[in-house]
Parts: sequence; structure tokens; C-alpha cells
Amino acid sequence: MTAFSQDFPHGITCIDTGYWRPGFAAAYLLIEGGEALFIETGPSHAVPRLRATLAHKGLSPEALRAILVTHVHLDHAGGAAELLNHLPEAQLRVHPRGLRHLLDPTQLQAGAEAVYGPERFQSLLGTVQPADSQRTKSTEDQEMVGWPGRPLTILHTPGHALHHQCIWDPTSGGLFTGDAFGISYRIFDQGEERLLFPATTPVQFDREASHHTLDRLAALSPKWLFLTHFGPVPFTNRLTDRLHTLLDRFADLADLHGAQKGPEPLTEALHQLLYQECPPALPPLSDALCRDWLAMDCALNAQGLRVWQQRRSC
Ligand SMILES: [Zn+2]
Repeated sequence: MTAFSQDFPHGITCIDTGYWRPGFAAAYLLIEGGEALFIETGPSHAVPRLRATLAHKGLSPEALRAILVTHVHLDHAGGAAELLNHLPEAQLRVHPRGLRHLLDPTQLQAGAEAVYGPERFQSLLGTVQPADSQRTKSTEDQEMVGWPGRPLTILHTPGHALHHQCIWDPTSGGLFTGDAFGISYRIFDQGEERLLFPATTPVQFDREASHHTLDRLAALSPKWLFLTHFGPVPFTNRLTDRLHTLLDRFADLADLHGAQKGPEPLTEALHQLLYQECPPALPPLSDALCRDWLAMDCALNAQGLRVWQQRRSC
């Protein structure tokens, strides 16, 4: 354990990448038999933390086999190319639809700058390097990665994005979900209750594919969802049902507010909905705190829902 990482059974370490605020975005380190791999990297700002975690675990850079990214959005993979340069034996593995964006991040960077604005982009996401083409490879659905005694399965999981994949670790019962199984911050936890809501970020969100992916993932009956935003959440069918319902309610709100000029009414409607979704007995969580924590997600989700809606109407 370090100031920004926490250990879990089966050699899993959750690392807070420091993206935006503590407790907001994670990367994971999996260690098996003296070797290791990363799942997610966070943006380039996170690379020192990832390397410090390796040093803390007594692992040499050569012990790293792979970097698996769930998708190429920069809060998940922005630092992948830079990290790869520090890990001489590692391969970077990405969904085939994300491969070209890691090799040439120009379009990815322009897209993120359009969403965040240039200044915010710099402070949040920093520089994005092109990845070493010799060591960056695409994955296949159902491909086995990991180790003979510790298989990990890649699952291609469209919905949040067409270039999204999850990683299934039957040894721990852990499913590394990226953004395919929603977002859930620990500050909202109340006893067993969790606030979990969909990530409908621009520009490839698709409601039907998201439902289908949720069904496919839930059928694995995982014990744990290792979310990128943020940390491990015990899997339950109830959470899954709620996420299906919220996907439809998000879409209904998009229908209700989508025709309006700007995204603000939809952003506000999403905030109201999520405030109602917060575990009921959460005493100190004022509307202001809730608004503060969910501001970025409500704004991005509203933008993504509007893009989805425009795509449907063309
Ligand atoms: Zn994300």
C-alpha cells in the first residue's frame, strides 16, 4: 500500500491515477509469479505513480508483461505510450478499433480538446505520445491473456465506445470493467448501498449495445467489478438491474431535453436523477457536494447522449 494505492487479494493493486481528484480514476496492477501487467494507465500525469507502485512492489520494469487498456479514452489510456517506453518487455494491448488511435493520437487529442477545452485538456490530460508500433497489438474477443495458471480473458464490449474491452479474471472473480459497467464513487457508499450509474460519454455511446454488454458481463457472475471510476464494487444482480433501468432513464431524459439548444437542461436533469439515486441514508452528502462530485460526469454524459440522439435521427 502507498498513499495512492491499495492492495486486494490475488495480487491485485488499485492505483489512484490522480486524474482530476482523489478517488476518481484508477489503474490496476496484477502480479502473478513474479510477473505483472497493468490494466489501464490513466493519463500521462499518472505514469510516475504507476512506476512508483512497481518499485514499491520490488518489481523491475522487465517483469512487466503487458499493458491492457479497456479503451482509448485518455483518462484510461492517455499515458499508455509513455509507460510502454519504460517497460522494455511489455506489449500494449488494445481493442482493434482503438489501435490506430494509440499509434497516432492526433484525432484522439483533438476530440478530447473539443470536449474539455484546450486549457482543461492540458491540466487534466497532459501530453499524449504515439505508441511504439512494434509493441502495440490489437486483441481478439475471447482471447486468453495472462499466464497459464492465471488466465485472463479479453471481452470486446461495445456500448460505452466501439473500442471498449473488458478483462475477466476468473481466479479472483474480478471483472475489470473500464466504463462498460458504469461509474461508482466510494464517497457515496452507505453500508451495502452503492450509487452506480452509466457512462454515456461522447462520441460512440449506444444504448442497445450497452444493454447487451451488461447482460454478457453479468452472465459471468463475477464477485467483484473493478471499475476504473472507481475501485472494486461487489457484483449484485440488483446493481445490474438498476444500471439497465438508469440507461433507459438517461435515454428518456435525452428524448425529453434533446431538442433544446444547449446541453445544460439535460445536464441538470441527469444531476437531479442521480441525486435521487444516492443511497437514502447518506447524511452529510449535501446537494452541493453531490453536484461537485458528479459535475464532470453529468456534463459528459449529457454531451454523449446528445451525440447518440443526433446519430439516431440522421
Ligand atoms: Zn473513463
